[in-house]
Amino acid sequence: MATVLDRTQAYLGTPRRMLIGEDWVEAESGETLAVEDPATGREIGRVPAGGKRDVEKAVAAARKSFDSRVWSGMSYDKRSALMWKLSDLILENIDELIQLEVLDNGMPTAFAEATISGAASGLRFYAGLCSQISGRTSNVGADLEFHAYSVAEPVGVVGIITPWNGPMATLFTKLAPALAAGCSIVVKPAELTSLTALRVGELALEAGIPPGVINIVTGIGAVAGAALVEHMDVNKISFTGSTSVGKSLVVAAAGNLKRVTLELGGKSPVFIFDDANLETAIPAAAMGIFANSGQVCFAGSRLYVQDGIHDKVVAGIETFAKQLKLGSGLDKKTQLGPLISSKQRERVLSFIESGRAEGAELVTGGGVHGEQGWFIEPTIFTGATQDMRIVQEEIFGPVLSVMRFAGMDDVARLGNATTYGLGAGVYTQDIGKAHKVARLLESGNIWVNCYGRTDKTLPFGGFKQSGWGRENGPEGLDAFLEKKAIYVKL
Ligand code: NAD
Repeated sequence: MATVLDRTQAYLGTPRRMLIGEDWVEAESGETLAVEDPATGREIGRVPAGGKRDVEKAVAAARKSFDSRVWSGMSYDKRSALMWKLSDLILENIDELIQLEVLDNGMPTAFAEATISGAASGLRFYAGLCSQISGRTSNVGADLEFHAYSVAEPVGVVGIITPWNGPMATLFTKLAPALAAGCSIVVKPAELTSLTALRVGELALEAGIPPGVINIVTGIGAVAGAALVEHMDVNKISFTGSTSVGKSLVVAAAGNLKRVTLELGGKSPVFIFDDANLETAIPAAAMGIFANSGQVCFAGSRLYVQDGIHDKVVAGIETFAKQLKLGSGLDKKTQLGPLISSKQRERVLSFIESGRAEGAELVTGGGVHGEQGWFIEPTIFTGATQDMRIVQEEIFGPVLSVMRFAGMDDVARLGNATTYGLGAGVYTQDIGKAHKVARLLESGNIWVNCYGRTDKTLPFGGFKQSGWGRENGPEGLDAFLEKKAIYVKL
């Protein structure tokens, strides 16, 4: 087990404050929220429970910095250099950030390391795009009548609301392009995992990003999050979280018709054809659902296996699941950490119960693990049917439903029988079949002979009720820009 760094301990030992402008402040109410280590269930710190007034102050600070053009008007090379500096500081402090993320969320160290170095790399990617923000000219009217062109401008004050399952990953998928675009920002991290966002606030000031450009208000979603979404002076909300909250947010954002980007839930299908290389397909499909204990928006939770290899694949995944090492994320040997909270564990257990009650067969798992913390065993059901809750609803836990399919004709019918459309996978050695499946599935991300790879260069997002808009790539930057057409009469 890795020892907790003195720096991490000192950080946890000090009551945390929120960042508004250049000030680190308590909530106006003085109230705080407990920070809990999900591997032990013990309180390890406290963060402010920000409320409506705190959000108002943070939005005012963001507006002031935006209107001053201190960030949006900065030359692209300077803005980009400050983003690189923040990226460097993240990497310099990565050991502390990893420990904070692991203690706050429960995820294994390797998972935290990958997401935090990915956050630093995302900053560098978007720092490079600062110089690419531009418009175009157009031939309008008769010859020599007009000089007409478009410009791209930052959308303004942006609210960023993130979930608990990948705190740094989801924060930087939004923060990096918002900074590149020149926006001023109010971050509302998930109430269960606010620590790394607050540490990022310190590093941003240390990097030289002007105060007021990044403000951070911690607090409960229905209070602080709702106040941000309803605020009439916020121009855009970029949200990652559940589909149900995403829908309510669309209604709440209507007051000033603010722009909204939504990255929501999933119930992603994976198809293993009988010509697949099972040596690689079995572990990849298993980690497609079990990684981060199933708390991944594109977790491959519906596994369709072609009839002839069904039993062999089930046996392979069962063996794989049974040898997974569960434990504290601080232990480098740990492959699966705990679920985020006792409430989430109760929710996952109730799904497992519904699977049993509706007639699916439990192959392995199904119970809690260990004496302390919120662990749950990797769980596999077979014989599930399309109408069961475990096949239709997002469980957000390490629970896999394995079903059979006969062949190509079943792919669209079974794979697309969901309200979601975030991820999908296919394992086959027939390249033509793989491409056909990729085209047939209604999903924003398709993985062939692998699962879950994402990259900053390509758009990430969902079809159907998995979201609105795209993150990553130039598309992710576009989401923080307004386009303006300018006509000059000559
Ligand atoms: P959640 O929707 O409960 O909360 C997400 C965030 O919204 C939190 O910061 C929360 O405080 C805030 N919030 C809650 N109610 C609010 C309200 N009324 N107004 C404004 N903000 C509010 O989701 P969660 O439980 O934290 O995260 C899990 C969900 O996130 C899963 O459904 C998962 O699929 C989804 N997710 C999606 C992606 C993606 O990229 N598509 C990535 C990660 C997680």
